[in-house]
Amino acid sequence: MNLLDGKRCADSLIADIAKQVARHVDAGLRKPHMTVVLVGHHAPSESYVKSKVTTCTLSGFESNLIRLPKTVTEKELLWLIQQINTDASTDGVIVQLPLPKQINAQRVINAIAPEKDIDGFHPANFGRMALGQKAFRPATAYGICKLLQFYQVPVAGKHCVVIGRSNIVGKPISIMLSNDFDIGNATVTLTHIETPRELLLEETRRADIVIVAVGIPGFVTPDMVKDGVTLIDVGINRLENGKIVGDVDFPAVAPKCEWITPVPGGVGRMTVAALMINTLMAYQNNFELA
Ligand code: NAP
Repeated sequence: MNLLDGKRCADSLIADIAKQVARHVDAGLRKPHMTVVLVGHHAPSESYVKSKVTTCTLSGFESNLIRLPKTVTEKELLWLIQQINTDASTDGVIVQLPLPKQINAQRVINAIAPEKDIDGFHPANFGRMALGQKAFRPATAYGICKLLQFYQVPVAGKHCVVIGRSNIVGKPISIMLSNDFDIGNATVTLTHIETPRELLLEETRRADIVIVAVGIPGFVTPDMVKDGVTLIDVGINRLENGKIVGDVDFPAVAPKCEWITPVPGGVGRMTVAALMINTLMAYQNNFELA
């Protein structure tokens, strides 16, 4: 069993980004700038935002965090996004999800200028990504691709099963791995809650790569996978005792795996690193450097 160490890979990518930024700054340009919008005080969101802001500093970026009360209206949030869209000093913006019930998250995502949409959730970026065009790729899915690439895990020609079809993880990773990208050309099956259990087991048991993003601790058990599988665990679940675990029963399944991601220290770190790659791309697009 080999660990797909997200921290090691993310550290290496961020060091490379920081070098590129230093070269741009030495050439007289300003630093890349990320704006993060956080509504309310959702505890996991606070921790994700902190990690994004800290990683901006490590990458040589400027960042600013705009906090809004959980009572903010959709109209007020949309107005703020318009201001950020037209602010030439911001290259990329993230509106941390989830948003309170009074706000329609898709309307907010749609309001972000596609050229600043470093999360890659705007329909224009998602559509371009799906068509195989240059786009900001959804960060978690892109981070998974970068991790597989870093450890030279074979993907092309492999059978990959994705469990979970959310717009932010399952759907984009299934498209990206089946596309003719630098990391891709796999044969992908996307499963979800309506997939009959027998069909799910049939698929996962013959899969070379299983990617799980369902948000259920211990969902993937040893009987579900074959020996030598590559297992990517996207889940982040907090147990009652405060421990963070993924969607895989790690101690039981890991001995069967050729490669497996730990939680924490796997995909989560890569999501943040992918956001930094997207931010650098937004900046380089602004200065026509890319
Ligand atoms: P989500 O929006 O809740 O989607 C969960 C998906 O799992 C849905 O598509 C659902 O199917 C499917 N599902 C639920 N039960 C299932 C079952 N029994 N069999 C097959 N599919 C099932 O979740 P998400 O946003 O993708 O997040 C999933 C997990 O990943 C969460 O733990 C989240 O915290 C974590 N996450 C981690 C990162 C990271 O950076 N590591 C990033 C994002 C999310 P239906 O569509 O049919 O309901």
